[in-house]
Amino acid sequence: MAQRTEVDVVVVGSGPNGLAAAVTMARAGLGVQVLEAEDTLGGGARTLDLQLTDVGVTHDICSAVHPLALASPFFEAFDLPSRGVGLTVPEVAYAQPLDGGRAGVAYHDLERTAVGLGRDGAAWRAFMTPLMRHQREVIAVSLSDKRSIPRELLSPGGIAGALTFGSRLLEQGSRAWNARFSDDEAPALLTGVSAHAIARMPAFAPAGTAIMLASLAHTVGWPLPVGGSQAITDAMLDDLRAHGGDVRTGVRVSDWRELPRARAYLFDTTPRTVLEVWKDRVPTAAASALGRFPHGPGAAKVDFVLDGPVPWTHPEVGAAGTIHVGGTRAQMAAAEEAVHRGRHAAAPMVLASDPSVVVPSREIAGLRPFWTYAHVPAGSTRDVTEDVTAQIERFAPGFRDVVVASRCVPAAEMAQHNANYVGGDIAAGAVTFYRMVARPTLRADPYAVGIPGVYLCSASTTPAPGVHGMNGWYAAGRALRARFGIRRTPDLSPGR
Ligand SMILES: Cc1cc2nc3c(=O)[nH]c(=O)nc-3n(C[C@H](O)[C@H](O)[C@H](O)COP(=O)(O)OP(=O)(O)OC[C@H]3O[C@@H](n4cnc5c(N)ncnc54)[C@H](O)[C@@H]3O)c2cc1C
Repeated sequence: MAQRTEVDVVVVGSGPNGLAAAVTMARAGLGVQVLEAEDTLGGGARTLDLQLTDVGVTHDICSAVHPLALASPFFEAFDLPSRGVGLTVPEVAYAQPLDGGRAGVAYHDLERTAVGLGRDGAAWRAFMTPLMRHQREVIAVSLSDKRSIPRELLSPGGIAGALTFGSRLLEQGSRAWNARFSDDEAPALLTGVSAHAIARMPAFAPAGTAIMLASLAHTVGWPLPVGGSQAITDAMLDDLRAHGGDVRTGVRVSDWRELPRARAYLFDTTPRTVLEVWKDRVPTAAASALGRFPHGPGAAKVDFVLDGPVPWTHPEVGAAGTIHVGGTRAQMAAAEEAVHRGRHAAAPMVLASDPSVVVPSREIAGLRPFWTYAHVPAGSTRDVTEDVTAQIERFAPGFRDVVVASRCVPAAEMAQHNANYVGGDIAAGAVTFYRMVARPTLRADPYAVGIPGVYLCSASTTPAPGVHGMNGWYAAGRALRARFGIRRTPDLSPGR
């Protein structure tokens, strides 16, 4: 990048948080340039033809399932459905196959779920109903910047919502987590959702993840985008370009001297990258705090092409948008514990989605993508194709027979297509209770890095990983106020 250009704002990285920040800044009337290291845009929200077939089957190389594309305050304001992004909500949000042909099945419909859970149905209903009633407060707590009290909580109803969330967090984050359940299915369902945090269990961070995502399954549902996750990215890019944004690919930023002169820089990267780019310009105390930000365990991705549906023993599992493959609560907790101790679990936690079940157009010429990833120790170089295949076969005998092709990206190689996933850490930072607040540090402004005008806006900041745009939105809000004196949140609605 030889030439220096003048822009108001430079955003480094085009993941959902980078684009949320870029869109917000552009909507404020500022000139925005996005610099992306890869040749494709979207970071963790990309859908690509991996050339595993010659008919053009596409794969979500990172995220695939998007409850927060409907429920996060950023995406509510941005309004993906009005922009033509189809977010298809399956009747079965997620399922948890168990040995012996059993399964826990979480329907979009709460009552159906409770009925299916038999004698744990009433306990499930009692757990979920108040969370659903207080959905706004649950989202507000979960997706707050952890520095201010969300306005949703400043009312008697808000306080009730916070107490509802807190009581369930204490229960599911502690050894009391089995207290209300008798059978395997309901606890397994909650544990499968907790496992999105890739953390030891029981603990508060995975419990918070489960409370938010499991209750969303019964409200907005767990949609899959028509066309894959790329549809979300493309809608954000369209808006950015319509508001004058300039987007460049193949630009890996490694030194601040290469950057165009700008009044604000937002980094959709890890803290480590910020330290590399800004070097000794970062004040010592801030550099040392950012340098201590820990990465979590890894995920290894396996993308399959199948010539038919997965032959799940339990038929309702085949209707689910997301399948948590790991067995019972105890089995999944043991697998996650092994990974935390730096060992490969004998039967690892696997997340899976067969998008054609929900969005039939994903199947091309009888071939369908099948999205999976397994939890592994940080930096693992293991090709987990066989581990994942064995786990799926355990609950879907005959799976091997429908596999036409596959590709594994071991954890150690994840950073090759997204530098944020250090050692396969797809959360871009360890997910612990402390690190959900000190994300990346305990500073009053978690987005500031100690250099005026330079901000972090990625999943390494509060509130959390995931495709919800909140980290980028919050960081942009701080930058707008501090650097441009703009206090009003720009209108993000599609009409403008
Ligand atoms: C396998 C997998 C499955 C997932 N499943 C889900 C899911 O189903 N639902 C969900 O909500 N979330 C899911 N996630 C998590 C979600 O994708 C991430 O939390 C989210 O994408 C984070 O967004 P971000 O903008 O912070 O960063 P990212 O999306 O990671 O984007 C960061 C961008 O910055 C670029 N970049 C980094 N360094 C530089 C540099 N030096 N110069 C220029 N560019 C740079 C990267 O190339 C990348 O494009 C999944 C992630 C993975 C990997």
